[in-house]
Amino acid sequence: MNLEAVLKRVRPNILALEPYSTARDECRGSRPEVFLDANESPYDNGLNRYPDPRQRALKEKVAELKGMSPEQLFLGNGSDEAIDLLFRVFCRPGLDNAVSIAPSYGMYSVAAATNDIAFREVPLRPDFSLDAEAVLAAADANTKLLFLCSPNNPSGNSFPAEEIVSLLKRFPGVVVLDEAYIDFSERPSLIPLTREYANLVVLQTLSKAWGMAGLRVGLAVADPGVAALLDKVKYPYNINIPAQKMALAKLDPAVREAHVREILGERVRVAKALQESPSVLRVYPSDANFLLVKVTDPDGLYARLIERKIIVRNRSRVPGCGGCLRITIGTPSENDRLLRALGIEVPGPADGVELLGDRHVRIRRKTRETDILLELNLDGPVGGTIRTGLPFFDHMLEQIPHHGGVGLRVEAKGDLQVDEHHTVEDVGIVLGEAIDKTLGAKLGIGRYGFVLPMDDSDAMVLLDFGGRIDFQWRAEFRREKVGDLPTELLPHFFQSVCAGARCNLHIAARGENEHHKAEAIFKAFARAIRMAVARSPFPYELPSSKGTL
Ligand code: PMP
Repeated sequence: MNLEAVLKRVRPNILALEPYSTARDECRGSRPEVFLDANESPYDNGLNRYPDPRQRALKEKVAELKGMSPEQLFLGNGSDEAIDLLFRVFCRPGLDNAVSIAPSYGMYSVAAATNDIAFREVPLRPDFSLDAEAVLAAADANTKLLFLCSPNNPSGNSFPAEEIVSLLKRFPGVVVLDEAYIDFSERPSLIPLTREYANLVVLQTLSKAWGMAGLRVGLAVADPGVAALLDKVKYPYNINIPAQKMALAKLDPAVREAHVREILGERVRVAKALQESPSVLRVYPSDANFLLVKVTDPDGLYARLIERKIIVRNRSRVPGCGGCLRITIGTPSENDRLLRALGIEVPGPADGVELLGDRHVRIRRKTRETDILLELNLDGPVGGTIRTGLPFFDHMLEQIPHHGGVGLRVEAKGDLQVDEHHTVEDVGIVLGEAIDKTLGAKLGIGRYGFVLPMDDSDAMVLLDFGGRIDFQWRAEFRREKVGDLPTELLPHFFQSVCAGARCNLHIAARGENEHHKAEAIFKAFARAIRMAVARSPFPYELPSSKGTL
């Protein structure tokens, strides 16, 4: 279907609609410096101005990541907003109808009902495959939209591209393809087909693999003519300033990649483990970050999990999903907790050091005070889960993968009811040990790291993996704690790292803001690590200054 044919299906009042326009839209081209147009407060607090209604910066970044033009993109308050707006653009209340598959994502029917649009659900086959002929048979002259979700929520399967293309060619309205879970699937996104089919709208979201459900940013990708229709009816400022800024800052494909990889590995492990339980009848294959699991007693199991403070989605009353729970894949330790709650035995990672690759190590260290699982991969992928029970400490440790360019997972359970000391110290020791083990004989690396980044605070970290151990600390904190982390533990942490990694580590920092100062130290440390562990161009020896100084 070409754009002209699609526009014929748009509600006449929407085609005729003159959208709300801001003065800043009207003066495009000039660069105003004094803003007396929008009755805002003039006092700058970072939020006193309205956000960019066209979301230009964010659109450009998303478009670049997805390999398309910003004009093809609509950004909404979650993809839920796009779902609602599609009804408002195409369906005349009380007259038109939409078709969808069942079971599928519940918001399609809710948005239909909100807009007074008849909603026709076509059941998937018992194996959740698509019955394209039944879908086509459900459509009539007043059918404007078809919702397909692939990978489908809650069944987890995806539909072959040929079947979707065949519906794009034969369905008499707009096909909305919801790819919320596409990052977890081996099948490629069908976004490129939006250039060919003006009646295709692909929905994606930052809520799943990108890890930003709390921000509420979803996208619809379509022919620019269709994207413009959604823009025309949206609230002018539908994505607020913090959301636009945070999304821009957090759209890091390397982090997404690392998380998706871990989820996919866990999906296989959890599916296999679940199959061993006598209460599990079937685990359906999944292309998403969840598993649909048929069990003997869904309500009983659901209640048992709730008792253990684990919440899953009970889908057993959804037609086609009798007996089923939908279980999202969590972190490895969350998944272990789920499996144990279901009575499935989970072997914990063995105590000690496990070399998982060339510069990739996993250490499990259990003492009376702490139980620490730490995985370090010097060659990435960058990112990883960090959980110590101390949110500020987590925030600091997160600087290490991001600024160090390494993969780091830390899951620490410590005796925080006593105090933070053992947890912080032991994470430091294990991190140091992991660095030492990943470097092996320390051949062929940069060896040294020096760095001096500036913020409102500055931090200097000097690092040498030559083998001598020396720790120096020149940083003073006035406050006893930053967040939940006692500042006296900061030097202690780095001293522990230094001992474990067998290195020279000299740290100096100053600044006014205690949070920034701590963060500058962690960032500088990470940058120094990055330099020191970088593979040197001379792989045959550890560079030494002996004899030359
Ligand atoms: N589509 C599907 C298939 C979903 O499962 C969900 C959320 N559960 C959404 C869309 C909504 O995503 P968003 O957070 O972007 O509104």
